[in-house]
Parts: sequence; structure tokens; C-alpha cells
Amino acid sequence: MTATRVLVLNSGSSSVKYQLLDMTDDSRLATGLVERIGEGTSRLLHTPLTGEGAERARHEPIPDHAAALKAVASELATDGMGLDSPRLAAVGHRVVHGGRRFTEPTVVDEPVLREIERLIPVAPLHNPANLRGIRTAQAMNPRLPQVAVFDTAFHTTLPEHAARYAIDVATADSHRVRRYGFHGTSHAYVSRRTARLLGKRPDEVNVIVLHLGNGASASAVRGGVCVETSMGLTPLEGLVMGTRSGDIDPAVIFHLSRVAGMSVDEIDTLLNKRSGLVGLCGDNDMREIRRRIEQGDGAARLAFDVYVHRLKKYVGAYVAVLGRVDAVAFTAGVGENSAPVREATAGGLEGLGLAVDPELNAIRGEEPRLISPAGSRVAVAVVPTDEELEIARQTYSLVAGDGTST
Ligand code: ADP
Repeated sequence: MTATRVLVLNSGSSSVKYQLLDMTDDSRLATGLVERIGEGTSRLLHTPLTGEGAERARHEPIPDHAAALKAVASELATDGMGLDSPRLAAVGHRVVHGGRRFTEPTVVDEPVLREIERLIPVAPLHNPANLRGIRTAQAMNPRLPQVAVFDTAFHTTLPEHAARYAIDVATADSHRVRRYGFHGTSHAYVSRRTARLLGKRPDEVNVIVLHLGNGASASAVRGGVCVETSMGLTPLEGLVMGTRSGDIDPAVIFHLSRVAGMSVDEIDTLLNKRSGLVGLCGDNDMREIRRRIEQGDGAARLAFDVYVHRLKKYVGAYVAVLGRVDAVAFTAGVGENSAPVREATAGGLEGLGLAVDPELNAIRGEEPRLISPAGSRVAVAVVPTDEELEIARQTYSLVAGDGTST
């Protein structure tokens, strides 16, 4: 029996998301989520996507990642798709930080695990959870290849002048301070999918990708190669996000420390959890913000305007970085669903060849689509992201060795 299935695991600090895919036709066989690991209220939601299977929920204490993965494996086994199935080719893990070393998906062995561990100081929230997921899956079936797919990998092509902060080089280098970028799997997938939408190969087009989820980032992709991205050493830099400030004068931190007496941890929490849309208006869900704007809410209006202003500045900057732009692609929760954000971002950029057709922009759908008027100099597109499929493809192409790619 050929092993053609890949289990994709995304292990967060208190959650594990998973999908089982069959790479013969990219179909999903099961999907699920374990939430609130380590809390009394933890639960697992499992949805088999073959046959008549309906969603199943388990409400039980799940103390740690090992218990979470055991519960996931047992649900998959119930559907005849357990971790010992001969049809399972590998497990693909989303790993947030791969530093400079991991430029490609990598089959995990002890030295690889040690390097992911060594990167914990630059990704204290994410890499430990990712590591726990890998080690647990390894322990459950030591013969099964585990592949790490890094969120930073697509950005390792950033030229040095884009990756460097203009600070003392020795200090930066001894503490690995540079711009790494994140959401790389999504930027890679969406930039390639956008090329296909235009009927071109990735190496023929220059694309600006706007990944607007709760976290948000932009990237400039020249001929399939990422040359600039908005996130930096951490996912805090760049666009205004759901709860993160994005770009800010670093002196704000010294000011808050000296004048407001805030500690480094308090400022960290302020900028990561109490800023962005939530900081500006108390809500981070764009649907709710739009609803409040309709009712004349001034704080929601300001939050929307600050969000769009920052996005517009990045689009302009990336047009300058790329010189020639073939497409701007909107993706992730806000990018795929919020017509007002897309319209406002492109508004007034006709001089750069950018425009959005209101009727096309209003159409909802799951498929990649153009929303710019026919004949526009720059195509504007909505391209739903699919990080799980991209992780599964990269994982499978590595273990099956057949060079499958998007
Ligand atoms: P993440 O993966 O970063 O958690 P997502 O890509 O799922 O985030 O995006 C989540 C965000 O997408 C929500 O916070 C909300 O602002 C936005 N969103 C989701 N659905 C819609 C919608 N129908 N209209 C506008 N915004 C939406």
C-alpha cells in the first residue's frame, strides 16, 4: 500500500490544530482542534471528512501536548486513519522560527531539534510548543518521518539590506537580531497561486501579498523569491494587527519605561496584546468594527482608518521595492472576507495602476479571483490561503522525493 497521506500539525502554546490530507488529490480526510490544553475546560473537536462522519467533541482535561496528540491519534484511529496506518507517509509540523539556518522544509533528527531549541530566545512563545508537538509525535511512532516546515523559510531570501536593522553590527550578530519575517508558508502559497491565477509561472511575476489575519504581514515577492516582508525579529513589526501595534518608534518603549514606570514585560504585553485594533477601539474582529462604524462609532472608524493607512503605506513602499508589480493579493481572515478593507486599501492608488471594481469586490467565494477592473495595470486579487496544504505538499515532496510543488 503506498503511503500518500500527510498529517499536518500546528502546535500552539495551548492548542493543537491538525489536518490529515491525501496527496494523491490534495483531499482532506480529517480536520480538528484541541483547545485550552492544560486548562480544566480543554476540549477536542474532530471532524472526519470522508463517508458519513460527523463532528465529534471530547470535553475532558487534556493536561499537556502529549495527551493532546494521544487524543488526536485515537480519534484518527477510530476512523481507521491512526498514526500507525501504513498509508501515512509523514507528519508535517508548522515551526514558527527557523532562524537563518532552515531555508527549506527539513526532516527532523536530533541536531535539527537542538537547533530549533537554540532558537527559543528569538521565539519564546512559539518554538517550545512546536518542539513539544514534534517530540510527542516522534515518540508515538518513531518510524514515521517528522518534517519541520518553517514560517521563516520563505523569507530567508531577503537581501541583506532588507534583513539588517541599522544598529551596531556586532551587537546585532551576537544576539541574532535581524529581520526574519513570518507567515512564510502563506506568503509562498499565495504568491504562487496568484501567478497561476494570472496564467503565469511564479518566476514571471512580481506580487505583493497582504496576509491579513489576526496577525498580519505583507511581503514583496519578485519572480517567486521573497525580497521584503513586514515582520521582523518577531511578529510584532509592520502592519497594524488584531492586538499588535506593528511599527512604532522604539523610543516609545523607553518613554513608557521612564515616564510611566512600566516594566519590560508590561510593555511587551501592551504592544503584543493590548494594541492594534483592540488597543484602538476594544475590538479585533473586523466584522464587529465594520458593524460599529455603520452605527457611527468614532473609535471603530479611527481603528479602521489607522489599519488601512498603514496597509496603504506598505503597498506604496513595496511598489517602490519591486519597481514593477503585476499583482496585489489579499489573503487570510480579513483579506479574504473584508471588501471594505480591500476597497479602502486600493482607494486613491490609481496612480500606481491599482484599482478595485466594486462589484467584483463584493462577490464572496472560496476560489482565488480578480477584483480589479479588466485591463488594470496591476491585478488586484483575493487568494484564499491554505497553509495546511502547503505544509503537506512540502512535507510530502521531501519524503516522497518526487519534487511535487505548487
Ligand atoms: P489567524 O489565523 O491569524 O488567527 P485568521 O486568518 O483566521 O486569523 O483571521 C481572523 C480574523 O479575520 C478575525 O479576527 C476577523 O477580524 C477577520 N474575519 C474573519 N471573517 C471575517 C469576515 N467575514 N469579514 C471581515 N473580517 C473577517
